[in-house]
Amino acid sequence: MEEEDPEKPEFHPVHVNWLLTKACSAGCRHCYIRGRFGGPELGTGEALALLEEMAAAGVRSVCFTGGEFLARPDALALAGAAVRLGLEVSVVTSGFPITEELAESLAVLGATTYLSVDGVGPETHERVRGPGSWEVVRRAARLLARAGARVCTVTALSRLNVADAGRIPAAAGEFGAEVVCLLPAMPQGAMGRELVLGAGEFAAVVRSAAKGAGAAGVELHLWCAPFAGILGDLGAGVRWWPCRGAPVADISPDGKLLLCDVLDFAFADLRGGNFGEVCQEIAGMPEFAEAHFPVRPAEVCRKCPAWGECRGGCFARAYLDFGSLSVPDPLCPRAAGLLG
Ligand code: SF4
Ligand code: SF4
Repeated sequence: MEEEDPEKPEFHPVHVNWLLTKACSAGCRHCYIRGRFGGPELGTGEALALLEEMAAAGVRSVCFTGGEFLARPDALALAGAAVRLGLEVSVVTSGFPITEELAESLAVLGATTYLSVDGVGPETHERVRGPGSWEVVRRAARLLARAGARVCTVTALSRLNVADAGRIPAAAGEFGAEVVCLLPAMPQGAMGRELVLGAGEFAAVVRSAAKGAGAAGVELHLWCAPFAGILGDLGAGVRWWPCRGAPVADISPDGKLLLCDVLDFAFADLRGGNFGEVCQEIAGMPEFAEAHFPVRPAEVCRKCPAWGECRGGCFARAYLDFGSLSVPDPLCPRAAGLLG
């Protein structure tokens, strides 16, 4: 029997973010997928088999995204298969593919639909997502509400829409959103660096959105902002999560298990491998250990009251900005020297 190595990291994801296709007709300016992931996308049979392996390995929820996942002809078949396997299912969409029938099917499946809403009105939303997109997303919200589907909104924050941040929670509430999600747009794919928010700007935006969420009485989730705990009292309805060490897996359209969907290196191939075993393969990579279990954290992080939950913040941003997975998150205002 093989002896267990106590130093070897293990990886047992309970949630999967699955970019099932890079195809999308929208052409958003902040798209982090465009121009990446060149290999052939997983076919229906491959994706169904992978779902079974995930369920067997202990995965409990899957978020189907892209590109535009709902534009895949097999989208409902895959979502339905995931539900039958006992997985909690969510989908991210621009709203373009949503029809009355599709909205009803998503409601019947009990799937949560994350609608991408990038402003509080047509001017900002269409600056990011193109002409006509505002009416499309509003119509999608109406159809989903009429069908009784669970809706949340998700907004990627950049210099294109930052002025709307404080009003997004109230606007999202009008979309019927149970939860409003915000995340910082990442400098990857089509997203230009000149559009990326700095640490001070992002902190101001989060505080303003938290205030807006409190006033509107909606729950606010901050994605990819593990340092949010140092931003002061954001209110009881605001939540965020750690990233380093989190049991979350990302999968690319061409079937690669990724260190993070924002990064283009350190991946393991799921084609021809078993999900649970491939997770251990990526856990054995030096990059995995460096990202998730930094051995020599920076002094600013070691002395930080939020270290226990944050552990240096987002390793993908750290890599994209500084070429290192273990330096502090450049979006953290404390690491950027803006907080004491
Ligand atoms: S590494 Fe960064 S971008 Fe990737 S999931 Fe974690 S917080 Fe988000
Ligand atoms: S200083 Fe480091 S540990 Fe503290 S919040 Fe910032 S990134 Fe996280």
